[in-house]
Amino acid sequence: MTYPVPGNPIDRIPKVELHCHVEGTVRPSTVVELARKAGRPLPVDDPADLYRYDSLDSFLSIFWLVQETLVTRDDWARIAYESLVDASGHGLRYREMFFTPARHLAAGQDLAGIVAGLTDGIEAAEAETGVRCRLIADIDRAYGPAAGLELVEWIGELRRAGRAERVIGIGADSTELGVDLRAFEPAFAAARWLGFRRTCHAGEAVGVGPDNIRVALDVLGAERIDHGVAIAEDPALVREVAARGVPLTVCPLSNVVIANRYRQLSDHPLLALRDAGLLVTVNTDDPAMMEHDLGREYRLLGEAFDLDLEALGRLAREGIDSTWLDDSERRSLRAEFDRA
Ligand SMILES: [Zn+2]
Repeated sequence: MTYPVPGNPIDRIPKVELHCHVEGTVRPSTVVELARKAGRPLPVDDPADLYRYDSLDSFLSIFWLVQETLVTRDDWARIAYESLVDASGHGLRYREMFFTPARHLAAGQDLAGIVAGLTDGIEAAEAETGVRCRLIADIDRAYGPAAGLELVEWIGELRRAGRAERVIGIGADSTELGVDLRAFEPAFAAARWLGFRRTCHAGEAVGVGPDNIRVALDVLGAERIDHGVAIAEDPALVREVAARGVPLTVCPLSNVVIANRYRQLSDHPLLALRDAGLLVTVNTDDPAMMEHDLGREYRLLGEAFDLDLEALGRLAREGIDSTWLDDSERRSLRAEFDRA
């Protein structure tokens, strides 16, 4: 397989990405076209003008606006395809990618069509670029625990029917404020019973401490924590999570720009957590909604923490340990990274 060879040396570092929402990767020009097609005019001419946030919840209102432009199977195929093609130019080789269909299902879309569309787009991008991608169906916590359980059961049915083979995991995202994560225990129990891997956004929003991380691990049985940066406030939990080998999928720039949790990247605890023995990966979360990409994430980290190309390469390679690939797939991906 031939990968595009980017000009920038940081883009040439091969990378995995485990925390990226497909709806947060839509090209601004595509947002405009899809909005027009869906008859949902945007309040601005340039979607980039929407992309200013002062908190996670203010970001979510824009995220939902972009989500509403996704109506047909072809729309989902287009955004998955463009997302992977764009990221391949910044070194992406393997992604476990979130999609969050609660809003669409509530509006009457068919989950089978959404998954089929995403699969179409992923297959086309894989054939063209060599990047590989699997899906994680994310529960939108704002829609409540019953909708979460329904999503898990529906995905389970599709998979039994051989129509959701790309979906390997279940996650939970969206707001953390005023939400009791414990209420999602039935959805996560069903995910486990149906054989899905499990991850959960926790410890992201400003005003949220490490308690949600504890709930995600001990009540929901999460095998990974998305963000999880609030863990830095609880050294005992850091030691425990390190010992259990539970990875954190960290999105440093997102925590600055979207959650407004840190004033600047150099305040971010990513490297301190890694030094404390945690498995961490570097991810973009919603790159298009921050005019951002995976290569830039590594470049900015390198600048903030004085990491050279080799150190960034090691950080990228460590990400393989946090994937849900089996041992032989991990070995072959490591060999591929080493060759590059
Ligand atoms: Zn996220």
